[in-house]
Amino acid sequence: MTEHVEPDPGGRRHRVVVVGGGFGGMPATRRLARMDVDVTLIDRRNHHLFQPLLYQVATGILSPGQISPVLRHLFRKRDRVSVLFAEVTHIDLARKVVVTTTIPGESHEYPYDSLIVATGAGQSYFGHDEFARHAPGMKTIDDALELRRRVLGALELAESVDSEDERRFWMSMVVVGAGPTGVELAGQIKEMATRSLRRDFRRIDTSTLRVVLLDAGDQPLATFGSHLSAKAARSLERMGVELRMHAMVTGVDVGGVTYTGEDHVTETIEAGTVIWAAGVQASPIASQLAEQSGAELDRAGRVAVLPNLTLPGHPEVFAVGDMATINQLPGVCEVAMQGGLHAASTIRRRLDGDDRDVAFRYRDLGSAAAIGRFRAIVEFHGIRLSGFAGWVVWLFVHIAFLTGFGNRTVTMLRWCRSMIGRARPERVFSFGHTGGDLSLPASVRDRVGVRFPEQGDTHWAAHGPVGS
Ligand SMILES: Cc1cc2nc3c(=O)[nH]c(=O)nc-3n(C[C@H](O)[C@H](O)[C@H](O)COP(=O)(O)OP(=O)(O)OC[C@H]3O[C@@H](n4cnc5c(N)ncnc54)[C@H](O)[C@@H]3O)c2cc1C
Repeated sequence: MTEHVEPDPGGRRHRVVVVGGGFGGMPATRRLARMDVDVTLIDRRNHHLFQPLLYQVATGILSPGQISPVLRHLFRKRDRVSVLFAEVTHIDLARKVVVTTTIPGESHEYPYDSLIVATGAGQSYFGHDEFARHAPGMKTIDDALELRRRVLGALELAESVDSEDERRFWMSMVVVGAGPTGVELAGQIKEMATRSLRRDFRRIDTSTLRVVLLDAGDQPLATFGSHLSAKAARSLERMGVELRMHAMVTGVDVGGVTYTGEDHVTETIEAGTVIWAAGVQASPIASQLAEQSGAELDRAGRVAVLPNLTLPGHPEVFAVGDMATINQLPGVCEVAMQGGLHAASTIRRRLDGDDRDVAFRYRDLGSAAAIGRFRAIVEFHGIRLSGFAGWVVWLFVHIAFLTGFGNRTVTMLRWCRSMIGRARPERVFSFGHTGGDLSLPASVRDRVGVRFPEQGDTHWAAHGPVGS
């Protein structure tokens, strides 16, 4: 199959719209910025987000700005790139326009000759959106700050209450989902409590903080294979994280988590803080594209793209990253980045008059997950590393990834302070709750959003915002 895209329609420059400035859209825009095209990058956040380090914002190591460079600033020297802060509400494939809503609620249309859509994925509660209010996920800076507020706020409450039962309640935290995000969070919370906070409190011993990691599967970090999973499980247990595998969560409420275990027995863990790190759901833009192009959607709502990452019948439209599916590739940064670069290169080739259709070929650069201080597991083409060796590779990979973000040196210093030293300098939390993950459906957002006593929220009245 060959495609032809008009190089210079109507004597003007080719217009490329990129939706989403994340790991798919940002590298694509960088490559397009060096070409003779007009690029419009639209994102509903004003920043690119380095999601793999969100847990370090949540646990007081990094500040939000260190992992979220502002998109407008990144492209300040690229005159042909316009950055727009707006939410894309509709893409009309037939009319070739992207429809946006800006913050005051105004609607605009942006016509394109080529379109790259990289709107990523949000949290999935597997049909139980009601869990969201009590168990926030971690997809955005707002989420990380909310988790920071809940975790550190729970310790403040534990310090101040008189009842032993209540103290135990606030000193118990449950993380649902033992993938990389859940493992990293559980490990860091436990480490922070054990190493960094002990001397800050008088009535509680933070090293006794109970951190439980629940998952329905057999082992944590299952995608790394059973050998590394087993090592990760041992590391977590050594750090004092309680692992409960084969645990199917059936309820989350203000009192904690209820789950059914392997033996079909139902158990409840009373906990003042519950964190959801379990599922992902593709951006709703994926289903719009599928509906209009006839492409299929998978169970996570990702649109199935053709081998060159375009949509059936729409060679000018690319879908990349977490919102798209091809060859069962995982939802990770490298897949999104390479997809975005492939789309930009295809546009360049077509504009050069080369209409050959080149299929996307993913180069697997391996995967890594940090478990705690100086402990990580890494898998690269059959090479498996764990412990300190794994951590050195994890460090190297993350420093390399941070290239171009301008925060490498500061981030390195922060890591030294918290890993060699004990510092957690970013512990400020605010009562002005941000409303949670804007990529969540409105129904979920309503539940996560701030509540005031006059709205009849008795739990808020009793405990303040933490745990509400
Ligand atoms: C906590 C966490 C930890 C992770 N850790 C790792 C890791 O260690 N290694 C790894 O490889 N991967 C990791 N991932 C996965 C990785 O971050 C994603 O695979 C990657 O970000 C996908 O890139 P993307 O461009 O598809 O989506 P994103 O990077 O999420 O970007 C999507 C962009 O689209 C914007 N957007 C969405 N909808 C709209 C709309 N309607 N209008 C305008 N803009 C919109 C968003 O604001 C966002 O900027 C992690 C993810 C999370 C959440």
